[in-house]
Amino acid sequence: MTEPRWRPAYIGIGSNLDTPAEQVSRGISALATIPNTKLMLQSSRYVSAPMGPADQPDYVNAVAALLTQLQPADLLSELQAIETAHGRTRDGERWGPRILDLDLLAFADVILAESELTVPHPGIVERSFVLLPWAEIAPCYRVPGLGSISDLARSIESNESPLTKID
Ligand code: ATP
Ligand code: MG
Ligand code: MG
Repeated sequence: MTEPRWRPAYIGIGSNLDTPAEQVSRGISALATIPNTKLMLQSSRYVSAPMGPADQPDYVNAVAALLTQLQPADLLSELQAIETAHGRTRDGERWGPRILDLDLLAFADVILAESELTVPHPGIVERSFVLLPWAEIAPCYRVPGLGSISDLARSIESNESPLTKID
C-alpha cells in the first residue's frame, strides 16, 4: 500500500564479505530501484572493526536517505528482497559475516516495537558506524525519542573505536 505523502527513511548499509566496499555501493544503487521511493542522499563509506564475533573481516558501512510513499513494513520487505538478491543468506550466527545488511534505522516520526520491525532501530545509540555516516547526511534529523543525529554522534565519538573513511 502506498500513500500520497513522501516520508523520509534512513537505511544503514553494511557488508564484510566479497569486496565489501563494492557490496555497499551496489546495495545503495539497489535502493534507488525500490518502487515509489527515491534515493536522496548517501554518506561516505567507512571501515569499522566487527561488532560481536571478532574472528571475521572488517566491515564497510554507510547510511542512505530515502523518501518513500511505502509503509514501513513494505519498505522493510523491499530491503530484505535486495539482501537476498545480493546473496545474503540467513543461516549464520547473530552478527556473523554477511554480504549485505540493510537495516531500517528510522522512518519519519514512526515508532514501532515489533520483533519483525523495530524503529528507530535499537542499535542506533551505541553504533558509531551508524551515527558517523548518518551525521554526514542528516545532522539535524531528530530520531523519535532519541534526539538529533549530531548530538547522538557527538556523544559516542570519544568512547568508540575509530572509523576510517574510505571515500
Ligand atoms: P542488527 O539488527 O542488530 O543490526 P542484523 O542486522 O544482523 O542485526 P538481521 O539478521 O539483518 O539482523 O535481521 C534480523 C531480523 O530483524 C529481521 O528478520 C527483521 O525482521 C528484524 N528487524 C527488526 N527491526 C528491524 C529494522 N529496523 N531493520 C531491519 N530489520 C529489522
Ligand atoms: Mg544490522
Ligand atoms: Mg539487518
